[in-house]
Amino acid sequence: MKITYLYLTIFLLVLGCKEDENKSIEKDKLSNHQEWSYEGEAGPEHWKELTNNSECGGNFQSPINLVKYTKNKNLKPIDFRYDEKTVLHSVENNGHTIKYNFEPGDYISWEGKNYNLTQFHFHEPAEHLIDGVRYPLAIHLVHQAKNGELLVIEILAKEGHNSEPFDFLESFLPIQKGEEKLINRSFDMNLNLPSNKNYFTYVGSLTTPPCREGVRWIIFEKPILVSLEQVEMLKYLMPIKNYREEQPVHGRKIEQSSF
Ligand SMILES: [Zn+2]
Repeated sequence: MKITYLYLTIFLLVLGCKEDENKSIEKDKLSNHQEWSYEGEAGPEHWKELTNNSECGGNFQSPINLVKYTKNKNLKPIDFRYDEKTVLHSVENNGHTIKYNFEPGDYISWEGKNYNLTQFHFHEPAEHLIDGVRYPLAIHLVHQAKNGELLVIEILAKEGHNSEPFDFLESFLPIQKGEEKLINRSFDMNLNLPSNKNYFTYVGSLTTPPCREGVRWIIFEKPILVSLEQVEMLKYLMPIKNYREEQPVHGRKIEQSSF
């Protein structure tokens, strides 16, 4: 009898150690910033603790609510050099968003500088607010200059008629978490732009860890239209509400173009 108890005690001790081990593995994963999420223990309020080089607790973060902006008539339209022949390389579900990767070719020119379009991805609902209004969907077009500077364009979308370019993009879905599918077809990104190209602009950060600052944001004032089914398709494949709450402005200058 005594021996049975002894075995049982040893067994429980070993089990206890295993659990501790599992917990410390979990912690390592968090500090490795692989496992951030939009809710719970690794949710946005903990992003600043998740990595050594996290800037998520910084003073110049994104997204923000676009209010108290000033009109600047000197701001020029963005010069879009998107070509219909540029090849869409692949689509991936990284567990945070659905992301489409471009091969080199498309770029924009803004304020005398060129930025290459590398990828675009979705947030449901949108991240930036305009006068407190949050749209149901947004596309982020991520651009990078030769010196590494980032410029992200946010295109807001609201529910309306069916979008043909979205039909094309969604024809490669569904896609499982962690999966990447080769597309290797040309795609004209101009087709996803609103006809009115006035915009808001300010300097902020990436909206996912490590929330790198010094990112130029351009947010179109007017949304594009996509159908409810097209929004639902993306919503179904991405984490629920994959957006970050608005961050404090801390006196940053928000400008609005007018042309
Ligand atoms: Zn984004």
